[in-house]
This record gives sequence, structure tokens and C-alpha cells, in this order.
Amino acid sequence: MAEQEAPGAADAGPGPGSDSPDSDSDSDSGAGASGESEMEFLRTLLSRTLGLGGEGPEKVLEELTLEGVSRFMLSDQCKNVVCMVGAGISTSAGIPDFRSPGTGLYANLASYNLPYPEAIFDIRFFKKNPEPFFALAKELYPGQFKPTVCHYFMRLLKEKGLLLRCYTQNIDTLERVAGLAAEDLVEAHGTFFTSHCLGTACRKQYNLDWMKEKIFSSLVPKCDQCNNVVKPDIVFFGESLPSRFFSLMQSDFQKVDLLLVMGTSLQVQPFASLVSRVPAKTPRLLINKEKTGQSDFCLSLLGYGPGLDFDSDKAYRDVAWLGDCDAGCAALAELLGWKTELQELVKREHAAIDTKSQQPPRDSAAGSTPPPQPAQTPGSSSEKSSGAEGKE
Ligand SMILES: [Zn+2]
Repeated sequence: MAEQEAPGAADAGPGPGSDSPDSDSDSDSGAGASGESEMEFLRTLLSRTLGLGGEGPEKVLEELTLEGVSRFMLSDQCKNVVCMVGAGISTSAGIPDFRSPGTGLYANLASYNLPYPEAIFDIRFFKKNPEPFFALAKELYPGQFKPTVCHYFMRLLKEKGLLLRCYTQNIDTLERVAGLAAEDLVEAHGTFFTSHCLGTACRKQYNLDWMKEKIFSSLVPKCDQCNNVVKPDIVFFGESLPSRFFSLMQSDFQKVDLLLVMGTSLQVQPFASLVSRVPAKTPRLLINKEKTGQSDFCLSLLGYGPGLDFDSDKAYRDVAWLGDCDAGCAALAELLGWKTELQELVKREHAAIDTKSQQPPRDSAAGSTPPPQPAQTPGSSSEKSSGAEGKE
């Protein structure tokens, strides 16, 4: 699916009016509550675009390179790192990016008799006809989930006390498997980690093992209390993003000292616009296969500012490291003096996952108790978060 079609993008605002089960909790995070931060955002934007504020934004990186970023990270100026990640950080874990050509997601859909391909991730269609989604989920359910070097690099950031938050577009739960806690995460497009009954009066929560068993039994998961369909907490088309996304965005992006953007082409809104919410001096490092997030005319019309700037003569804070996310994180870890620590962490954690998954025969029986395995399904763009935690 094209990234622009990401579920949730249509009614991206924190507003009511969607049929999302989260709507009720969205109302307390509305934009009105954030007047001050909006003013700050506008002020920053104006001073940047109009060249107000004299000498321009402070330059905190000595040089616009990975080395420059690593020196900044080791300084006492860098206390809060925010990561923004997408499908590119999970591809080396064997989880396909369904937006990439060749993964064949939509080509496989013909047998489901859908009115149009995206219907499979449309909440209105799902409520009437959930079978195609669960059939596809079974077909696409990955056999094993091993977080990547990049995921464990974020875990190291957390252990070093540097990680303010990880904003992820992925629904594969690999951040959690790697050891990030719910409070470290904003799962912007939701997650397979939890599921909820669609019955508005019920909303009972179910865990991943329960959902996996239903999926592999080819059963449409039904609530054991009210018999309504149970849906993984991923964001479908027609649903709003988790309220947590909008509420934390307000405070996190004012505090961030370094923005680390990894494995995302920054084309799904409103997620992509987050890069423009950081303070004017905050350095932004992109680790990705190609440059992205640069000037976007449409975005600037929406007031999102000029995007990332790696190459112009005005560039002063943005760094692009092009290549594989794991290699980029390994290179950064080396510059930070964390190379051995990262390698050992990956080795230890992967060994633990292997040990667990060897006990019951992997991939076979649905009824066994496999390790906590994330499910990646409908395009990493359709995800829905655990914003509903504790609502049950
Ligand atoms: Zn129920």
C-alpha cells in the first residue's frame, strides 16, 4: 500500500468523530489543552521561516557527520533522545515492509473477494466482514521474532538513560521484545501486542498468545464474554491514532535534544510531521537507505516547516547516514564506545530467544506456548497501539 494511504491518516487529528474505540480517551488530549506548546511551535516556525531572531538557530553539532552526532551524544547537552522508527528497522528481522514493491500483499488478496484491496484494513469493512483480515493475518504471521541490532541500540539508549521515547510506526512489537517498556513507546499505528473486544460496552482486553491461537485455528476471534469480534489493537483505515500519540507528542518534542530517525521514509502523516516539531537547535540524525524528509511543499503549506536539510548551504543540524539501520546503529555505537556492549547484548538476547523457541517446536502447532511473538500483519502502516491499556 502506498504510504500516503496509511490507516489513521485520514482522521489524524486527536478529534472525536471516528468510530475508534479509543475516541473516548482521545477527548482529553485535544489540541486545545496545548495552547502553550502550539504557541512555541508557531514561534519557532515563524522565526525560522522569516529569519527572525537574529543570528539564527544555535548550532550544537561540531560537524554534520555521525562523528559530530556521537560527540554531541556524549556531551552533557544531550539528555533526551527521541527515536522515530519505521518498517526499515524490522526488515532485517525478516518482517517484510508491505509497502515495498514485490512483497505481494495486495496481489494475494484476490481470493478474498474484497470490494477494493484496502478494504481488508478498513474498520467499517472489518466490522461487517472480519474473515479476510484474519485469513491474511494467518498467512503473513511471521515464524519468529528477533529484534535487530537497531532495536537493541534503542535498548542501550534506554539503559544509558538517554531514551526519552521511541515513536514507532511498526506493529510487530519488536521494540517490546527488545526490552523497551510500554512507557518508553508510542506505537503510533498500534500494535499486535494487545487486542480488544469490539463491543463498546465490553472492550475486554486479550493478549497476543490468545490472539495467535485464534488466528492459527482459522477462527474469527470472538469475545468470551459478549461474543463480539476481538480485533488486534492496530490502527485500521477509518480509525484515529492512539490518544497517546497526540498527548505525548506535545511534551516530548519540546524536550528532545537529539532526534534519531531510522528506517522510515517519512511519508505517512501525521507521523512524518513530527520531525518538524523539535526545537530549532535540535540535531536530527537520519539512518536510512535513502535521504528522506526533505522539503515538502505540501507540508510547508500546512505549517510544518521546511523538513530535513542535509545539503543546502543553510544546513546546520541535520545528518544523513545512508545504509542499513543495523549497520548505522553499529557504526554509531562504535563511535560512542558502546560497540562491545551492543554486540554482547544482541548475542545474549538472541540466545535467550533461541532457547525459548526451541522448547516447543517452532512454527508448528498453534496450540503450544511459544515465546512472546509479535505479529506483523497488515502493512506496517496499519497498526494500533496499546493506547487502550488498562481500559478493560
Ligand atoms: Zn466483549
